[in-house]
Amino acid sequence: MQLTEKQLAQVDAQIKRLIKSGSYYGKVFEEAGITGCASQEEFEKLPFSSKADLRNAYPLGIQAVPDEEVVRIHSSSGTTGKPVIIPYTAKDVDDWAIMFARCYEMAGITNKDRIQITPGYGLWTAGIGFQAGCEKLGAMAIPTGPGNTDKQIQMMIDLKSTVLTATSSYALLLAEEINRRGIRDRIHLKKGVFGSERWSDKMRAYIHKELGVELYDIYGLTEIYGPGIGINCSYDTGMHYWDDYVYIEIIDPKTGETLPDGEEGEVVITTLVKEGAPLIRFRTHDMSRIIPGECPCGSKFPRLDVIKGRSDDMFKVHGVNMFPSQVEEILGLVDGVSSEYKIDIAHDEEINKDVILVTVEAEGRVNFERTAATIRELFKSRMSVTPKVTVVPVGTLPRTEKKAKRVFDHREN
Ligand code: ZN
Repeated sequence: MQLTEKQLAQVDAQIKRLIKSGSYYGKVFEEAGITGCASQEEFEKLPFSSKADLRNAYPLGIQAVPDEEVVRIHSSSGTTGKPVIIPYTAKDVDDWAIMFARCYEMAGITNKDRIQITPGYGLWTAGIGFQAGCEKLGAMAIPTGPGNTDKQIQMMIDLKSTVLTATSSYALLLAEEINRRGIRDRIHLKKGVFGSERWSDKMRAYIHKELGVELYDIYGLTEIYGPGIGINCSYDTGMHYWDDYVYIEIIDPKTGETLPDGEEGEVVITTLVKEGAPLIRFRTHDMSRIIPGECPCGSKFPRLDVIKGRSDDMFKVHGVNMFPSQVEEILGLVDGVSSEYKIDIAHDEEINKDVILVTVEAEGRVNFERTAATIRELFKSRMSVTPKVTVVPVGTLPRTEKKAKRVFDHREN
């Protein structure tokens, strides 16, 4: 998707502002001899920004406005190293609330709804984003925050909450608890707005059934405002995103080249009007694609497909992108199989083809040969590859304390 003239002018203005501010990114552009951006070609040559940059600029190196204009900061922790701090101006905070209110509206939520907000409040962008959007919409916020399931369910029943916002794992926990207590008929929920983390179809179906809600995936990340930059509509054909606030492109994570609409790659986001900490071409490491064409709902906002996984975890066989999450999802469908697995990918010179070997663990009670055949068929139908599958007894594969490496690529790159 090409930048419109207006978006191009906005990017140009962002770059000029960054340089003038003397912030971390201003210096990056200055040193690269970049003074602005006048065309799509120029844009696609602009340097990427990354989480690593934001850590280098810790704590407030990316701030692009004077101190008196900053009204709030948020922080994303990340699994390694220093946290990232993002400063917001009053306009940034308001813009974010406008985008979030739009998300609720896209999901058919109105000011008559009662929105129970279970994501956490604090340094991260979750709870407060859901809350600000709710207030902007004019709906009633029920800011329970996370945890305390008893209180949570009591509020849900007594206040007749119609919308649940949560992480998908917490929504699952609540659904299970409501099922266990047999109080489904006292719940008034109609819709669920959940963070767009990767979750299985099985989990979605369960939450849909047990809570009786339509499911909406909300997209966003702390570095770019927070959740609320996109959401699916009731046609569920991908997430509409707000292209008057962000420009999204999809790149090949290996070469950095911009890919045409419809092709899968890494999501790269440029903020168009952000003041406190504008980001140009921020690499999210989320893998998805822009869905070409128009949505049956008639909205002109472009669509991003559901996030398929992280580019860091991706592996490629026979030209097909694969993610550990997909493997986990497949194994979750097979009876008696543990969650441990190992994947080896090698190139067989003789047949000049990549060979994929999947090793999984199964309980002694199941037939290993039949289990292997089932897994092979699932890979074939869901991922379009036919691996060789070896089934070993539970406890055979190594266990490690840290996040285990499960995919071993023996091909020469
Ligand atoms: Zn739509």
